[in-house]
Amino acid sequence: MNSSTFFVLFIGFLLTTLILKVWLNTRHIRHIQRHRAQVPPAFASKISLEAHQKAADYTIAKTKFGLILLFVNAVVLLGFTVFGGLQWLSTTLFAALGPGMWYQMGLLVAFSAVSSLIDLPSDYYNQFVLEEKFGFNRMSLQLWLTDMVKNTVIGAVTGLPLFWLFLTFMAKAGDLWWVYAACVTIGFMFLMQVLWPAVFMPWFNKFEPMKDVALKTRLESLMQRVGFGARDLFEMDGSKRSGHGNAMFVGMGSKKRIVFYDTLMANLSHGEIEAILAHELGHFMLKHVVKRLVYMSVFMFGIFFLINYLKNQLWFYEGLGVTPILIGEHQNDVMALLLFSLIPQVFSFVFSPLLSIASRKQEYEADAFAAEHASADELISGLVKTYEENAATVTPDPLRSKFYDSHPPAALRIAHLEALRGARAS
Ligand SMILES: [Zn+2]
Repeated sequence: MNSSTFFVLFIGFLLTTLILKVWLNTRHIRHIQRHRAQVPPAFASKISLEAHQKAADYTIAKTKFGLILLFVNAVVLLGFTVFGGLQWLSTTLFAALGPGMWYQMGLLVAFSAVSSLIDLPSDYYNQFVLEEKFGFNRMSLQLWLTDMVKNTVIGAVTGLPLFWLFLTFMAKAGDLWWVYAACVTIGFMFLMQVLWPAVFMPWFNKFEPMKDVALKTRLESLMQRVGFGARDLFEMDGSKRSGHGNAMFVGMGSKKRIVFYDTLMANLSHGEIEAILAHELGHFMLKHVVKRLVYMSVFMFGIFFLINYLKNQLWFYEGLGVTPILIGEHQNDVMALLLFSLIPQVFSFVFSPLLSIASRKQEYEADAFAAEHASADELISGLVKTYEENAATVTPDPLRSKFYDSHPPAALRIAHLEALRGARAS
């Protein structure tokens, strides 16, 4: 490969992805508009016309904003690469700091800071204009800013040491640096599974043991039934930030704990909460969670192997608008990592339906698990309420859904659950 071939490939994939995304999202908007006047027959008894139309308007507004962001992001990506943004940052910092770790870490920090600043206006617009308009925003500007500071601190205390390790391995660990880097990343991934709920989340939210004794007893008996050994059931004040929610999550290892957002507790009946928990437990008991971590681990080795190959290719830098530094060894390592972080968005989208297929299969399996250990009817009504509360459309464009959604569309999921219920009844 030479630089111009790679450049053409990069621009080709970027344009293809852009055109594909614009096409899928405009299809989505048209599809929702066509189905806006009437609740689809399958949902007619479950969702009001008013809620259906709110979901349509909300989804269309989000999708239109997404279309604008698509172009902004493409310009930013080109700005960093072929228009010389990264090169400029690199030259400036290299002149100021000279070769060495300070230059490399400096470039990483500068790049992260610039990217975050570029994202700020759209984050703000999303929270305080879009979400606000549809009644989902519960955040004050102060809370938004505090969250941002906390996230930056977390990013710095976790990300900087991790990158420092990568760069140290690249410089000092010889040909097998990428194996060590992959191992460290996998270790970090597992560590975060424990640290995130135990250390970082309490910084953002309050956790309290579940107070509703009747519900607690019911959920504990479900966990016992399916053989899931969790200790604690918690509630979390998700409503502090957003009217969305209806969410829950389950921790890992010996610290296994189940956390419900207060928004979910407020909106769903005990039976519905039980069915939704049964679905989540399904992901655990069917080993989806473990499998995902194993796939991710294998994937990490692939990623770092690829970085190891690319970092030694001149065309990789030049094709993306960067002239490698020739003074001193390993000065380009940080640039290789940064460039590599930018390219997956360009080359991976066309393959996203393959990932969705795998993820949907697991959703159907977890639904079947829930139908077996709890009630399919309660899961259906819980899902419908969740859609309604979140103003999620039940009429997405089917093709767009294949690219973007990890979960099957509501209609298919409910039909699947109804079939399961039918099979069990007969
Ligand atoms: Zn699921």
